Amino acid sequence: MIVGIDLGTTNSLISVWEHGASRLIPNCLGEVLTPSCVSIDEDGSILVGRAARERLQTHPDRTAAVFKRYMGSDKTLRLGGKEFRAEELSALILRALKEDAEAALGIAITEAIITVPAYFSDAQRKATRAAGQLAGLRVERLLNEPTAAALAYGIHLRDAETRFLVFDLGGGTFDVSVLDLFEGVMEVRASAGDNMLGGEDFMRCLVDYFFEQRKVPVSLKSDHYFLQSLYAQAEAAKRMLSEAATAAIRVVHNETEYQLDIDEQALERICEGMLRRLRDPVERALRDANLRATELDNVVLAGGATRMPMVRRLVARMFGRFPSCDINPDEVVALGAAVQAGLKMRDAALNEVVMTDVAPYSLGIDVSMTLGDGSLSHGHFDPVIERNTPVPVSRVKRYYPVAEQQKQLQLNVFQGEARMCRDNVRLGTLQFALPQLAREDSGVDIRFTYDVNGLLQVDATVVKTAHTHTLVIEGNPGLLTEAEIAARFVALSELKIHPRDRLEHRTLLARGERLYQQIRGNQREWFGAQISAFEQALESQDNRRIDPQRREFETLLNEAEHDSFTIR
Ligand code: ADP
Ligand code: MG
Repeated sequence: MIVGIDLGTTNSLISVWEHGASRLIPNCLGEVLTPSCVSIDEDGSILVGRAARERLQTHPDRTAAVFKRYMGSDKTLRLGGKEFRAEELSALILRALKEDAEAALGIAITEAIITVPAYFSDAQRKATRAAGQLAGLRVERLLNEPTAAALAYGIHLRDAETRFLVFDLGGGTFDVSVLDLFEGVMEVRASAGDNMLGGEDFMRCLVDYFFEQRKVPVSLKSDHYFLQSLYAQAEAAKRMLSEAATAAIRVVHNETEYQLDIDEQALERICEGMLRRLRDPVERALRDANLRATELDNVVLAGGATRMPMVRRLVARMFGRFPSCDINPDEVVALGAAVQAGLKMRDAALNEVVMTDVAPYSLGIDVSMTLGDGSLSHGHFDPVIERNTPVPVSRVKRYYPVAEQQKQLQLNVFQGEARMCRDNVRLGTLQFALPQLAREDSGVDIRFTYDVNGLLQVDATVVKTAHTHTLVIEGNPGLLTEAEIAARFVALSELKIHPRDRLEHRTLLARGERLYQQIRGNQREWFGAQISAFEQALESQDNRRIDPQRREFETLLNEAEHDSFTIR
């Protein structure tokens, strides 16, 4: 059985292809969205998902979120005195999802399709694959998120002929893909995106605005507890404004209360810069697909941040039509990942479906150019594979060294669209000896092979000697070597994971602690006593005592969440 996994910046989901349809598997709290958060409990055990998210505010130095942004870099996050790379934190999320699926299906899960932003670089993709390995999963395929969304959407329209755009705005990334569906063949015509733009940035804008408007002392900008509490409030206000006209952010620090009331128009005004950034990738994808916005039959929304009315208005304005949201935007990518799993398992229900994808950015090398006066200008980018070429693809181009009798060639590989290499992303370097011949006899064939997972291989063959060198991206601090992965796998396996069957109670307690920090005055003392009472019930390990207490405690938490409880 191959599972589908949407490993998101904010939330992650796991799905299976079953009886000719995709199904999302709920976690042990019965929820299909598992927050991509990890926390270390005081006893050293690892908490994943909602329990960890609750602790972001109460235990910021023991909790991590939004680490997908650091995939493919060597940045580490410190949790309770331990350092973790983004791959490792992602692996802990994957492991939790895997266990949820194993519990639900009653079989061991060892293979997965994991979705990634279409615009993820080679290093970010490799990091995702490594995270899978660290979780004990073989990554059967890395699937682009908008392509997954398209699969979920298109599977219902198999016989239709339609042209649509997927607009995927998640917590940390933005992806756009233009697709053609014709006689069961789903073809991605073009993809574009922004790896550093998502709902999280809208929340941060709101936070900056809060600091500015309420004249909050700058010193609080580095106060962990104040910030986490403000982030939580800003996030709640942002979501509130997707349904209501106004919302409030209220944070207390040392007896001073800072409050900001905000309406939807104001939010749109302060997020104007970000709304502008959403236009660029859309225009580029359409241009590359040779289409005008009016030639699309539909626009499909994916990602939680497309719930914001201002984003929907922007989409409606850009395309002159209202977007389709028949499938829940939080779930559509995971549902598509399961379709891909079905395709991989050659399920008969998917017999006639064919899916093709493209390389979202150009890939090439740096070259020197001879100028009119005979001098050399270095650092120009020469694409070997142009962006939006269908994948898999293999292209070869012949290059010559700059000098006569040159001894060595250093090949720098880049991705991007800029004219000069310094403005593109460096993927790696390949250095090898040349046979020291005249320039015209020293040709080198450079082959770029880009596979369906979006992973690149570069081979350079010295034509004269037929000797081939393969680019192994080594010494890139953003990537773990196989040996490092093996070592970290062992270290991760030794971590104590909070028992799954007790996570529900642990989550309620974490939520209680967070709410305790939010309320004030005599309510607080009383509320604290209720938390202690529930803790005591748990210690009794007597389910007849725990169950009614749990129900009561949960009701209380729901009331506290809505600021509506009264002391009983
Ligand atoms: P990812 O795929 O990156 O995990 P999701 O698709 O789960 O992201 O979307 C998460 C983002 O959507 C977050 O930034 C969250 O604030 C935002 N979001 C979710 N629901 C809403 C809502 N009702 N209104 C506004 N933003 C929302
Ligand atoms: Mg997503």
